[in-house]
Amino acid sequence: MVSSTDGFTWTPSAGRRKGLPTIGAVQPPNYSTQPPSEVHDVIVIGAGYAGLVAARDLATQGKTTLLLEARDRLGGRTWNANINGFNYEMGGTWVHWHMPHIYREISYYGLHNDFIVTQNPGSKEDYFTATTGSRQRNMSHEEEANIAGRVLQKFCNVDGEDLKQSWKYAFATVQSPKLMAKWDKLSCKDRLDEIQDQLSPEDRSILESQLLQMGGSSLEKIGLLGVLLWWSLGSHTPTGLNDIALHTRLRSGQSELHRRIFEHAESTGNLSYSFQTPVQRIEDADNIVAVTSRDGQVWKAKSVICTIPLNVLSSIEFAPPLPADKLEAIQHKSVNRCNKVHVDLNGPDYLSWTSLGTPGKGLVSAFGDHLTNASNSHLVCFGPDPDTPLGISLDDTEAIKSAVIHLLPKDKQEEVIINRIVSHDWNNDEFANGTWCFLEPEATTKYLSVLQRPYGNIFFASADWSDGWRGWIDGAVQSGTQAAKAVVFQKTSSTPTVSVEKKLANGA
Ligand SMILES: Cc1cc2nc3c(=O)[nH]c(=O)nc-3n(C[C@H](O)[C@H](O)[C@H](O)COP(=O)(O)OP(=O)(O)OC[C@H]3O[C@@H](n4cnc5c(N)ncnc54)[C@H](O)[C@@H]3O)c2cc1C
Repeated sequence: MVSSTDGFTWTPSAGRRKGLPTIGAVQPPNYSTQPPSEVHDVIVIGAGYAGLVAARDLATQGKTTLLLEARDRLGGRTWNANINGFNYEMGGTWVHWHMPHIYREISYYGLHNDFIVTQNPGSKEDYFTATTGSRQRNMSHEEEANIAGRVLQKFCNVDGEDLKQSWKYAFATVQSPKLMAKWDKLSCKDRLDEIQDQLSPEDRSILESQLLQMGGSSLEKIGLLGVLLWWSLGSHTPTGLNDIALHTRLRSGQSELHRRIFEHAESTGNLSYSFQTPVQRIEDADNIVAVTSRDGQVWKAKSVICTIPLNVLSSIEFAPPLPADKLEAIQHKSVNRCNKVHVDLNGPDYLSWTSLGTPGKGLVSAFGDHLTNASNSHLVCFGPDPDTPLGISLDDTEAIKSAVIHLLPKDKQEEVIINRIVSHDWNNDEFANGTWCFLEPEATTKYLSVLQRPYGNIFFASADWSDGWRGWIDGAVQSGTQAAKAVVFQKTSSTPTVSVEKKLANGA
């Protein structure tokens, strides 16, 4: 299998190795259906989900489309490595039929019977471990769900009605604007302070672990509104959120779906592409957009869809410069710089085990996902930003091991054997500089619509400023779809009519 230079694996025998095998790697990296001097209909920058679906939608509608991607592979912040036949999802993982845009892709490409479940019951260590400082308690998964659900509900119930009226339509763009603006002023720390008298130390640790896993930063930096959005998307229940957002994934891996979308676009004969091609400059003049790569190549098109993530967008030179409000918006980056680490433990015993804990030793959650082909327990673990006191650097293999062991039941810590670690350091990745988008307080109110707005012939698509499942795969697909449609019709990507928006704003 071909490999990407992204990601790394560690095993006791081979130590640490950079790069991972993946079917998402594109070789050879370039293909052109027409002379490079030709003016394309559209250039799509970025081959993550937003860029892939946009390029597919355009190519299938007869637009000559050039896809430019900095990496050597498809998928951006979503991709899977395959090691010894097991798929390790390095970024975006869990998808669900309640995520309408990605589910449409899954079923369209025939993967609707390909779901598998994370957290399978029945293994020897079939319980939850809560680590609160130096104290630990094992409990049943039923008790875990009760406590984790109760504290999250308390946290999210900012209006006394679980947001069931004020945030009734999770995907709608304009509703309860005054309340949204009020809640958006708060950080997770502010909200925790409001309810702290109602939480035991264990409650607080379980709640903090969940929030740190969601927002991947310090609690002061994570905007409350992002958590409330997830709550609303999870049908205003903790089990809804857990089942939709953390439970089902594709057996064949996300890169399989990327391949199918990419090959569909290619099959039209309208798609050209260049991978390993970081873009440096985008110039929009006289209705032709010129895109220049770092190595000085220039391509031209009538329109551009830019899917470069929020946290690296400021590295691109725009001519004429972006308007002041857009420049300000892209300075307010996503705060989420979490670490996601795969750890294989020797033997099948931890398939069903789950854990949360703060302050932890760099990781705040670990849970059994599946068995590898060698019947080892595959765990997925998350920890907050390495630059905060609760995070660790992924360069430090010993720190990763001790962070995982710290979350394991105390009486098992000595006997557990770590067979493999697999990860991708998203925070030191120059084409991501972070993970899924989580905005700081006030940023949603001030900047979301600014980030979504096109500029001349340049359209912007990303999960980072999507409506609906913002920060998720589904949001990337929604945003890419809207941008392609906007290019075809050459108008802005907002979908509801003015009258519907007005009705929603009035609380109808
Ligand atoms: C660790 C992790 C776990 C996640 N878990 C989940 C999950 O379980 N479920 C879920 O739904 N979502 C999850 N997400 C979020 C999801 O993966 C992302 O929101 C989504 O993949 C973003 O898609 P995108 O197309 O908007 O951006 P990206 O995937 O980032 O695509 C942008 C593309 O632009 C390219 N690019 C950047 N700079 C340049 C440049 N200068 N020139 C050319 N190309 C450039 C990048 O290489 C990239 O390929 C997770 C993300 C991470 C990182």
